[in-house]
Amino acid sequence: MNENLKEILICELEAELDAAKKISVQEIADEIYSIGFQCLICSKCCRRDFGDNRVAVTTTEIHTIECSYNSRWEEIAEPFVAEAKSPEEECETNAADGLIDEEGNIHTFGWMLRRKKNRDCSFIPDDTTNHRCEIYKLRPLLCSTYPFYMEGLKLNTSECEGVGKEIGAQESYALAELVLKRYILELEDTILTYKNYNGFETGENGKNIAESCLKQGYLNYVVHYSEGSYRIVRNI
Ligand code: SF4
Repeated sequence: MNENLKEILICELEAELDAAKKISVQEIADEIYSIGFQCLICSKCCRRDFGDNRVAVTTTEIHTIECSYNSRWEEIAEPFVAEAKSPEEECETNAADGLIDEEGNIHTFGWMLRRKKNRDCSFIPDDTTNHRCEIYKLRPLLCSTYPFYMEGLKLNTSECEGVGKEIGAQESYALAELVLKRYILELEDTILTYKNYNGFETGENGKNIAESCLKQGYLNYVVHYSEGSYRIVRNI
């Protein structure tokens, strides 16, 4: 991403942020009320078997969990990666997208909650009959607002069996407040990420180095996020 493109993206995001701050909570609440929703506490959105369960987290959310549970950053979050069928496919896609640098590091933007080997969220019990989130009170906004999210100033709904169930007006309003809060925090986080981003050098050997690391059971990542860049090794 060159400096020009970076400036354009930041300008577009800042304009979106200004517009997002003017959205009426009541209008979003009315939409949620007419769509309807009730959480069935099935934990399907936390488990990989039922679809894309990546949970994007902001820097502030990671710090909150870190402090409250006395956990290390790497125990909470991992690089936000595209969903791939295998690590080999992930390597291939990142190389094609020019996201591997000359030292074989894969560059990503932002964080998501760490997942287990089976790719369930690391905060959901292994016992699939137990649906209790282990960090329920501090779960990220993506979780507490699921299945609703804002994109391009519009309310969207993800797939969920609870959609269409009756919801009260007060509950809709509380959910709308959280949905808008999340939208604004995510935009602010992304703007800061781009402002701190200084690019990297790609090289012909990068993909070979990454593939050789993969054969040894790991991949190196550089995550660009709102506080700068962070190099992290992910065991595969
Ligand atoms: S943090 Fe909790 S609610 Fe969110 S995906 Fe993980 S287990 Fe589910």
